[in-house]
Amino acid sequence: MSFLGKLFGGGKRDSDDGLYLHVRCNSCGEPIRIRVNPANDLSERYDEDGGDDSSGYELRKEILGNKCFKLIEATWEFDNSRRKVGSHIRGGTEITAEEYEREIAAPGSAAT
Ligand SMILES: [Zn+2]
Repeated sequence: MSFLGKLFGGGKRDSDDGLYLHVRCNSCGEPIRIRVNPANDLSERYDEDGGDDSSGYELRKEILGNKCFKLIEATWEFDNSRRKVGSHIRGGTEITAEEYEREIAAPGSAAT
């Protein structure tokens, strides 16, 4: 068994807790995938009026693609079950995993 075989052939998946988010850069149109670990990367949000209960989670990311130097500032909001409920993305647009895969497979075909 080679070292590489161990690396790539192992049966243990490490993606169980991974969450993938996808954005498109508004400047150059590059589709970008971000992997986050909900257990580590989400921070709790609290209501402004001081309740003890968490009102969910948020994730802030600064994203830089490969094609241009425009920084994308993204904030995703999650509920208490860590389900995505909203996003605010400056400099980019959120896309679905399907859109991401399609654009990676056929760059440029998504031009309107
Ligand atoms: Zn770009």
